[in-house]
Amino acid sequence: MTTRQVTTATVSIAELRDVVRVAVERHPEARSRIEAAASIVLLRSISPDPEYVACFTVESESEPGRFHSVDHGVGVCDCADYQRRGLRCKHLWSVRILAALARLHGRQAVAVAA
Ligand SMILES: [Zn+2]
Repeated sequence: MTTRQVTTATVSIAELRDVVRVAVERHPEARSRIEAAASIVLLRSISPDPEYVACFTVESESEPGRFHSVDHGVGVCDCADYQRRGLRCKHLWSVRILAALARLHGRQAVAVAA
């Protein structure tokens, strides 16, 4: 399967805001994580793992240069927030937002360059 990519250059701010608005409407309790995830999508790097489908390396929002491993398929992350609470963290949300943006553009797999 060819990995097709959507990059931040492909996506408009209006599309990002739309995806974030819908996510917050559906998950109001997760607003702060969703908005932090939007910041990750805009300002940090998110790259697909070359070996594992649905796995991504997501740059930390609070510590640029630090990275977290996210399995979007299973829905797990190695960050402290996820490990402690078991809830969808901002890294998982960032990949989810990216996937939603990719769907808007008719892409199957996603990658992004910060
Ligand atoms: Zn995380």
